[in-house]
Amino acid sequence: MFKIGCHLSTSKGYLHMGREALSIGANTFQFFTRNPRGAKAKAINEKDVALFNDFAKEHGFATLLAHASYTLNACSADERVRKFAHEVMADDLVRMEYTPNNYYNFHPGSHVGQGVDKGIGQIASLLNTILRPEQTTRVLLETMSGKGSEVGGTFEELRQILDQVALKDKMGVCLDTCHVYDAGYDIVKDLDGVIEHFDHVIGLDRLFAIHINDSKNPFSSHKDRHEKIGKGSLGLATFARVINHPKLRHLPFFLETPNKVAGYAEEIRLLRGLYSTN
Ligand code: FE
Ligand code: FE
Ligand code: ZN
Repeated sequence: MFKIGCHLSTSKGYLHMGREALSIGANTFQFFTRNPRGAKAKAINEKDVALFNDFAKEHGFATLLAHASYTLNACSADERVRKFAHEVMADDLVRMEYTPNNYYNFHPGSHVGQGVDKGIGQIASLLNTILRPEQTTRVLLETMSGKGSEVGGTFEELRQILDQVALKDKMGVCLDTCHVYDAGYDIVKDLDGVIEHFDHVIGLDRLFAIHINDSKNPFSSHKDRHEKIGKGSLGLATFARVINHPKLRHLPFFLETPNKVAGYAEEIRLLRGLYSTN
């Protein structure tokens, strides 16, 4: 089964997202746990979540991907900023248990001049404080483009974070096609080589989701500007290879392209047409 979805707005609740996903040919979706810029999260509407959980089961939805606010920084030099990330993420993990057994993705953060090793230590220590043995949610580190002092622009950095987290079975990685290409991993010319390298450094058994985005910028630009599928520097042929790759094709794919819902519907149709069902 091809597991494909896109980023949807959370504002109208879970059941609304489920129905919207279904209406555009998706069988999963990504959503922000709260306003991506702010901290305020609406109280969970238990009835809405219960209706959604039934809906998702009924329609055979694949694992969902929640995305943490991208303004959080687990490795800021400012202790208050780190504490804020800690509080928000701990609360997000409580909220995630209303929809059990899904994924929660976050950007590792920017070390802002503290040095990458210090940043990695702070990210791991935050995770070691908030992860719980009884949680059903898996937390994913996103591969980053390496702009500025971003941590996670190399597979080695992600591996080092994972190595320092105690509850390893609660962790994983989400690979973003735009970010890795911008970071200098050439998935256009050598997808097999990049996948092999990922397996060698991190392990493919720790890869749980793919963000499927084209890039507005050339290879190794360290920029992070997403483009519509087939309209950027990765190109449609690359995406056909990515979604059909024997080591990736079982994973859930999430579009974060610059689109409204109708544009996502079109891209999902396009990708479904490219996914081989032999
Ligand atoms: Fe992201
Ligand atoms: Fe992403
Ligand atoms: Zn991005």
